[in-house]
Amino acid sequence: MESETILQIALAGPLRGHFDYLPPDDNSATLTPGCRFEVPFGRSSRVGILISLNNNSSVPASKLKRALSQLDQAPLLQTSDLRLLKWAADYYEHPLGDVIFQALPVNLRKRPTNSRVSPPGLRLTQAGERVDLDTLARAPKQRAVIHALQQHPQGLAKSQLVESHDLSPAVLRSLLEKGLVTPCELPPIPLPTKAPYSLNPQQQLAVDKVRKSLDGFQAFLLNGVTGSGKTEVYLHLVADVLAQGRQALILVPEIGLTPQLLQRFQQRMGHEVAVLHSALADGEREKVWHAIRQERQHILIGTRSAVFTPMPNLGLIIADEEHDLSYKQQEGFRYNARDISLVRAQQAGCPVVLGSATPSLESLKNAQEGRYHQLDLPKRAADASLPSLSLIDIRNGHLNGGLSPVLIKHLEQTLQAGEQAMLFLNRRGYAPMLTCHACGWLTDCPRCDARMTHHRHQKLLWCHHCGHQQREPASCPSCGSPDLRPIGQGTERIEETLKQRFPNHALARIDRDSTSRKGALEKLLKQIHSGSIPLLIGTQMIAKGHHFPAVTLVAILDVDQGLFGADFRASERMAQLILQVAGRAGRAERPGRVMIQTRHPDHPLMQLLIQQGYAAFAKMAMQERQLAMLPPYAYQVLIRAEANRSDYPEIFLKQLLQGCQNLQHASDLEFWGPVPAPMERRAGKTRAHLLIQSNQRQALHRWLSEATRIFPTLPHARKVRWSVDVDPQEML
Ligand code: ADP
Ligand code: ZN
Ligand code: ZN
Repeated sequence: MESETILQIALAGPLRGHFDYLPPDDNSATLTPGCRFEVPFGRSSRVGILISLNNNSSVPASKLKRALSQLDQAPLLQTSDLRLLKWAADYYEHPLGDVIFQALPVNLRKRPTNSRVSPPGLRLTQAGERVDLDTLARAPKQRAVIHALQQHPQGLAKSQLVESHDLSPAVLRSLLEKGLVTPCELPPIPLPTKAPYSLNPQQQLAVDKVRKSLDGFQAFLLNGVTGSGKTEVYLHLVADVLAQGRQALILVPEIGLTPQLLQRFQQRMGHEVAVLHSALADGEREKVWHAIRQERQHILIGTRSAVFTPMPNLGLIIADEEHDLSYKQQEGFRYNARDISLVRAQQAGCPVVLGSATPSLESLKNAQEGRYHQLDLPKRAADASLPSLSLIDIRNGHLNGGLSPVLIKHLEQTLQAGEQAMLFLNRRGYAPMLTCHACGWLTDCPRCDARMTHHRHQKLLWCHHCGHQQREPASCPSCGSPDLRPIGQGTERIEETLKQRFPNHALARIDRDSTSRKGALEKLLKQIHSGSIPLLIGTQMIAKGHHFPAVTLVAILDVDQGLFGADFRASERMAQLILQVAGRAGRAERPGRVMIQTRHPDHPLMQLLIQQGYAAFAKMAMQERQLAMLPPYAYQVLIRAEANRSDYPEIFLKQLLQGCQNLQHASDLEFWGPVPAPMERRAGKTRAHLLIQSNQRQALHRWLSEATRIFPTLPHARKVRWSVDVDPQEML
C-alpha cells in the first residue's frame, strides 16, 4: 500500500518538537507548510501549523491520527519565515510551537471565529442623506452627527465623532438601528510630506556605505551621539529601499517613548509606514500584520516581536537604540530581537544597521573584530553642541529633599533664564520605604526579599517586584508608634520638594503613575513641547528619544546603584542611561549641561565617562570584562528554578548539574552554582540559579541541546518552575 504523506505539525503551547498527523479527509487541502490545521490532541483539539511534510513517521501507523481540517488555504508563513523561527527555537532552546504561535497575531493563534472587526468609519446611508434635520430636533447629538456626516460624504472616523461631539455609545447605536448611518472604511488621509534634509558629510558617508551593500548581507554599527542625525540616516536608507520596491523593518525599543521617530517616518513616507506594538488592539495588529505580509505596505516600525513579521521582500533592517534592554524578552520565550535581526538579515540577504549613541559592549566587540562595519557620527547634526557633564559630590553636603544646594542654585538660574530643567530619578512613588522611628520596623514585602515603596498620593505601600499592595499604615504595625518616616526619594517626593522650592513655576511629573490614564502621556508631552512647563521630573520614561528643545539643564539625582549593582552589566547600563538622559539637554541653539549627583565621584569608570566620553568608558569596561572572562568574552546560559517550597529549586538544580555535567562538551564549560537568586524570595517563591558559561559558543549550545532533553526527566522537574535563558541580560 502506498504510504500517505505525513504532516509534521507544531502545536501552540509549551510542547517541544512537532507532532505527526495524517492529512485531513477533506481532499481540497493543499498541505502547504505555513498553513494552520486543526488537529485532535488528547481529548480535545488544538490549532497547529504545518512545518514540513514527510514520507514516514516514527509513530506506528496504527497510532497516527488524522488532522481534522486545514484552516488556511494559503500559507500564513513562508518557508523563510519558518526557517527563522526554527533557528530561534533551536538557539534559545524554546519549544518550536510556542515560538511560531508567539509570532502570529493573537487572533490567528486560535480557531477562526466569524467575529469581523467593524470598519473604523461611519457614513450616511441613503436614508440618512435624505433625513430632515428638523425631525431630530429632540435628539441634538444625533442631529449633530448627521450634520457632520453631510459635510463629509466619504465618512468620518467613529473615534473622531465620539470625541468632538462627546457621544455616548447609545447615540451611535440608535443611528445605526434607524438605518441612518453605516460603518465604512475610510479613505487614507493625505499626510503632509516633508522634504529630507541634505546630509552632512558624516551622514552622507554612512548612507553611502550601507547603500553599496543593499544587495547582500552586511551588519553595520551606526555609532552616533544623541542628536547626530541617525534617524535622518535611517530615513535616507529606507527611501532607497522603498525606491527599489523592497521592504524595510525598523525596530525600536518602545513606541510610546519614541513618538518623534514614528512621526518623522510618517511625514516622509506617508502611508507606506505600518506600526506594530503591544498596545494595539488584537484586530488592529492582525490588519497590520497582513498588510505587511501581503506587501500592501513596505515599511514596518515595531517593537521587539515585530522582528518575526513576515516580510517577503525584505531589503533592510534597522535596530535603533540597539543596546536597549527592551529588545530582550524576559519571560517565556526569552529571545533578543536585536540578535535575531542579524540572523534574519543574513537569511534574507540584506543589510542590518544597529544604531546607538551608547552601543552595547557586545556590538562594539563585534565591530572591533570586523564582523560589523562601524560607522561614526561624532557630532550633533543641527549645529547644537553636546552638553557638558559634571559631577556633584553629595557625600558630606546636606540634601534638601534629595537635591543638593549646588543643584538648587543651578535650577534657580535655569528658571530665571526662562529655560527648561529636567530632573531624572529612576524610582517612582514617594519613597522606597517607610520606617518606624521608634522600633526600626521597615515596609518589608510579605512575599519578597524587598521593601514596599510608599506611594503617598494613593496612600499605598506597593511592592514593585511582585505587585503586592496594602494600605499605608497610620501607625507602626509592630510597636504602634505613629512616628513613621519615609527613607530615600521617589519622583513623587522630588515633585513635592520642587513645588515647595519653586512655587511659582509649573511642574510636570512623568512616570508610570502619572501617565497611567490613556492619553495622559501625550497630553503632558504636548505641554512640555509648548514650553509652558519649565520643570520636569521623571523616570526613564523621559530618558529615551524625546526631543525637548528648551531643556538646558538635566540633573541625574542618583546613579550610585549603577556603580555597585549586583549585576556585572550595572556600570554599562548606568553609562548608557546617563548619556541617554544627557542627550535630552541642549538639543537646540542653547547649549545644555548635565549634573550628576553621586556619593562616588572618584569611581574610575565614572571619571572616564565624564571626562572622556562613552568610547573611553567602553574600552575600560571591556578590559575589565576580558580580565574577568565575562560577556562579551564569554557566553552564558542561566537556568532559573523557583518553587513554593524553599529547598526544591536548589535540589532540582543539583540534580541538573549531576545529570548533565558529564555530557559531551561539558568539559569546555564552567558551572557556577546552584546559588540563591540575588532576590531569593519573590512573589512568595524561593528562587535559585545555575549559571553555565564558556568561551566557546558552539560547545555551550551543543551541550545545551543535549541537556535540555534531560531537564524534564529529572526527579524534581515537575516540582519546580524552571527556565532556560540563553545570553541572559539580567541576572535577576
Ligand atoms: P539622532 O537620531 O541621532 O538622535 P536625529 O536624526 O533625531 O538624531 O537628528 C537630530 C536633530 O538634527 C533633528 O532635529 C534633525 O531634524 C536634525 N538634523 C538631522 N540631520 C540633519 C541635517 N543633515 N541637517 C540639518 N538638520 C539635521
Ligand atoms: Zn515601630
Ligand atoms: Zn513583593
